[in-house]
Amino acid sequence: MSLSNGRHTLAIPGPSIMPDRVLQAMHRAAPNIYTGELIDITASLVPDLKAVAQTSGNVAMYVGNGHAAWEAALANTLNRGDKVLVPATGRFAHGWAEMAQQMGIEVEILEFGMRASVDPAQLEEALKADKDHKIKAVLSVFVDTSTSAKSDTAAIRAAMDAALHPALLMSDCIACLACDAFEMDAWGVDVMVTGSQKGLMTPPGMCFVFFNEKAEAAKSQVDYVSGYWNWSPRANPQGYYQYWCGTAPTHHVYGLREALNMIVHEEGLPAVFNRHAVLARAVWAAADAWATEGPFELNITDPAARSHAVTSVRIGAPAGTQLRNWLTENAGVTLGIGLGMEDETDPNADGYFRIGHMGHLNSHMLLGTLGSIDAGMKALGIPHGSGALEAASRVCAVRG
Ligand SMILES: *Cc1c(COP(=O)(O)O)cnc(C)c1O
Repeated sequence: MSLSNGRHTLAIPGPSIMPDRVLQAMHRAAPNIYTGELIDITASLVPDLKAVAQTSGNVAMYVGNGHAAWEAALANTLNRGDKVLVPATGRFAHGWAEMAQQMGIEVEILEFGMRASVDPAQLEEALKADKDHKIKAVLSVFVDTSTSAKSDTAAIRAAMDAALHPALLMSDCIACLACDAFEMDAWGVDVMVTGSQKGLMTPPGMCFVFFNEKAEAAKSQVDYVSGYWNWSPRANPQGYYQYWCGTAPTHHVYGLREALNMIVHEEGLPAVFNRHAVLARAVWAAADAWATEGPFELNITDPAARSHAVTSVRIGAPAGTQLRNWLTENAGVTLGIGLGMEDETDPNADGYFRIGHMGHLNSHMLLGTLGSIDAGMKALGIPHGSGALEAASRVCAVRG
C-alpha cells in the first residue's frame, strides 16, 4: 500500500505548481502568429510584467529559461574583457558568474558562503578598491534558490552609491519574482532577469530581461550584440515577430496571460506578496518546532535574510535524501534536492533538502507538505521536536 495516490504536490523551487487555469488556457489549437488575438495578448503581457517588476523601464521577452536570461543580460551590456563583481550567496551566483566567464568576461567573486546574504559594507569596500572603475556591473542574485538567502537589494544599491561607483546593478529574480516583493526602480536596479516557471506559475520556456535607461546607455558601448540576444527589437518591436526574433512561444503566451490575470488583476500584487510572507512564516514556525530536538535546522538563521519563496533545510546525511524519497513514495510530495551545499559525490550531500513554497500555493497545500514532512520524520525515526503543525497552523489562522 502507498498513501501517495491522489494529486501529487511538487514542492521543489521551480518549476512550480501550475494553476489548472494556466494549463487550460494553453490547451488549444495553434493560433495564427500573423494576425489575430495572439498579437494583442502578447502586447498586454508587457505592462503586467512591468507591474510585477515595479518598473517603468523596458522588458524584452525571450524563448528560453533562466540561463538564457542570464546570457541575454550580459550580452547586451558587456564586452569581452570587461569585468563584473559577483557577490555570491549560493550556487546560482556562481552559475551566473560561470556564464559570464564563458562569454570572456572577467569575474571577481565576493564570497558570502552558503548561509548568509550579501553584506553591503563588504560590497562597498570591494567597489572602493576598484579605483579605475574596471568593474562594469554587479551581478547580484536577489534570492539564491540553493541557500534560500535573500539579499537586501536597496542596501546593495546604497553601497554602490556610497562607493561612488558607476557599475550597473543587475539582479537575478528568477527564483522569486511575484513571491518576494521586488521594486526594480525604487531599489535602483538597472537590469533584472526572471523566468516563467517559478513565481509566474507558467511552464519553463519563457524568460524576461528588464532594463532601464542606464543599461540602455551601457549597451551603446558594446561592440557587438548578436541578433538573437539583442534586447532592443524585442522591447520595441516594429513587427510582431521581433518580440521573439521568430515564432512566438504561442502557448506560453496564453498561459502567462492567465497567470498574470490571476496575480495582477485578481488577487493583486500586495495580497500575493502577503500570502507568500505568511506561508513562509508558517514554514519557519514548523521548522523552529522541529529544530528543538534532533538534526533539523534552517539553512538561513536570520529571518530577514530568508526568502518567502523557498526554504533550504539542513538535516544531516543521509536523512535529507531519505526524507525526500519517503515523501515522494509515501505521501505524493516531491521536495527539492539540496543544491551546491556539498560536492555531489560527497555522502554529506544527502543531508539537505529544500521546500519550494512559491506561486500557486495556499495554506492547505503548504500544511499538507509540512504534515507530510512531519510524517516522514516519524516514519524514518529522525528525531524532531513536536508541535510543528500546531505552530504552522497558528500562523495560517489569519483572516485575509
Ligand atoms: C531557477 C533559477 C535559475 C536558473 O533558471 P533555469 O530556468 O534553470 O535556467 C537561475 N537563478 C535563480 C535564482 C534560479 O532560481
